[in-house]
Amino acid sequence: MYNYKALNIKELGDLMERIGESRFRASQLYRWIWKRGVTDIDKMSDISKRVRNLLKETGYVGELKLKAAYPSKDGSVKFLFELEDGKEIESVFIPDRDRKTVCVSVQVGCPMGCKFCATGSLGFTRNLKSWEIADQVLQVQKFMREFTGDKELRITNVVYMGMGEPLVNLQEVKNSVYTLNSHIGLNIGSRRITISTVGIIPGIYELSDFDRQVKLAVSLHSAIQWKRARIVPVAKAYPLHKLRKAVMHYFERKKRWVTFEYLLLPEFNDGEEDIRALEEFVSGIPSKINVIPFNPYPGASFRAPTDREIDRFVKRLQRLPHTVTLRASRGGDVGGACGQLAKFHPGDLRFVKI
Ligand code: SF4
Repeated sequence: MYNYKALNIKELGDLMERIGESRFRASQLYRWIWKRGVTDIDKMSDISKRVRNLLKETGYVGELKLKAAYPSKDGSVKFLFELEDGKEIESVFIPDRDRKTVCVSVQVGCPMGCKFCATGSLGFTRNLKSWEIADQVLQVQKFMREFTGDKELRITNVVYMGMGEPLVNLQEVKNSVYTLNSHIGLNIGSRRITISTVGIIPGIYELSDFDRQVKLAVSLHSAIQWKRARIVPVAKAYPLHKLRKAVMHYFERKKRWVTFEYLLLPEFNDGEEDIRALEEFVSGIPSKINVIPFNPYPGASFRAPTDREIDRFVKRLQRLPHTVTLRASRGGDVGGACGQLAKFHPGDLRFVKI
């Protein structure tokens, strides 16, 4: 049995031909699945009963199973989904005026083991398939329409910043971008899609040749090699000078500004020498710096910065010619904020106001 959701439009067309139907059926089916979110083939009303029966004999429309949704006080919602093999992943819905963003996972767990990240402490189970990545967006949209009563609610932006490292599952990530992007599906523009990496250099080069204008975000967290390697183990294999070269290459190919994410870990990466190193690293790279105050989780070895520490750090960064933004932490009360995705029930979380 085929899972129609796992096939792209060309593969669906080939399948239709193999079962004696016209290729045109593929776009009909694709629209029902990815635009209307329908999984019951009998509800595909513009397809004749004979063809619907044939489709049911040949395959089915897979779907992530929603196990829980945790609404935060700030409007964001954390989702727990079960995959077909029983594994679980999380996604987060983040509304901000007209912008409705979904933060998606790309792996079950993560092999990168970053020292500030709850997901990293889970270990790695497996990569997600492209349909499992894109379906998070479809399912979140569906849920939010029912939850808010707004039948027109549309997901406008997607960030690949949930569980896992996108650039070590790049083929599936790219395929999921095609799905999100399709005008007969969710129709989310490439420029509204951000792919984040901890600095997988071969992946950055490969993404530079990707035929979609996605945004690149690099989790830098320190521009001092030994410090970065301490919190991001993969930085030992992909050192800063090579990372800088790869990011420059990305900019030259794509002509798109890069975002450097900087997780603020008080008393670790917020000193004057850290700022000087950061200044040197970003100098000459058209980019912006996004400061993210650390979000604690059970067992974390760092603490959250105080409001004063955040303020002081951001002010000192403002001497750089780059745009500096402070990411407002969203969903921290339900374990949906950055680095917190590790299947904690909200009750397990320490509520630390940052
Ligand atoms: S920060 Fe990202 S890459 Fe690092 S362990 Fe967490 S999920 Fe993986």
